[in-house]
Amino acid sequence: MNNQSQLLLAVIVGGGLLAILAGQLWSAARERRRAAEFSEPFPAQWRALLEETLPLYRRMPKALRLRLEPLVRAFLADVRFVGCQGLEVTDEMRLVIAVQACLLIVERDPRAYESLASVLLYPDQFIVNETDEDEAGVVHEGESVLSGQSLDTSRIVLSWRDVQESAVEGDAYNVVLHEFAHYLDNSVGGTLTDLTARRAALEAWHDVLHREYEALCDAVDRGEDVLIDPYGTESTVEFFAVATETFFETPRELREHHPALYAELKGFYGLDPAAW
Ligand SMILES: [Zn+2]
Repeated sequence: MNNQSQLLLAVIVGGGLLAILAGQLWSAARERRRAAEFSEPFPAQWRALLEETLPLYRRMPKALRLRLEPLVRAFLADVRFVGCQGLEVTDEMRLVIAVQACLLIVERDPRAYESLASVLLYPDQFIVNETDEDEAGVVHEGESVLSGQSLDTSRIVLSWRDVQESAVEGDAYNVVLHEFAHYLDNSVGGTLTDLTARRAALEAWHDVLHREYEALCDAVDRGEDVLIDPYGTESTVEFFAVATETFFETPRELREHHPALYAELKGFYGLDPAAW
């Protein structure tokens, strides 16, 4: 090894070490910030704001609300909210989104959103360019109008108007729960909703998912009234997201008409919203 390659090696090793050190410093800073957030009391005006704006929060048992509070604080410290198209992000927006996102993980894995860096918030529905390949392999390009999007595990995009419309009681529409359910599925590589992904732990869930998905497709084909959003017929991926909305928004109806699906989701989220 000549001097030059020794120098190069030293630079590479040094650079690698620096990157590792920077990574460790970054996660140590994140840990410190989390610890500080966890020890701070939850502001009374935040509780009042949630009480006032979010029927789902009003329904939650007190003990659950208290368990959510440190998670919400950590979420708000970790995740950057970005207002798009001139939208000014308020405390209300951040809180309403954070509390519903954290509800999905409070009894599962409090670190499930660790790689989530940002929530992009549009004032209303937004347009994205999409390319789609049909069965013949022809690629189509076009625009889609969306109320929410969860593409990867680093960011989630939401329409604030749709977040507000989700906070209306009596229907099963909830774009926040929908997109964060996709996030949880994405964070395990889509295995939750991929019926070909054989995992012993997922067998019972996949059986129920398959049966309920087929049943929804059949009911929609027959033109019947359905409890679960017909959008769920798009794919098992979408079915899981809309079933999650129904589980939290109209839990008693879901438990009555789809007991097996309700039981699986209750096990998955570790929560029993029909009993709240
Ligand atoms: Zn979806």
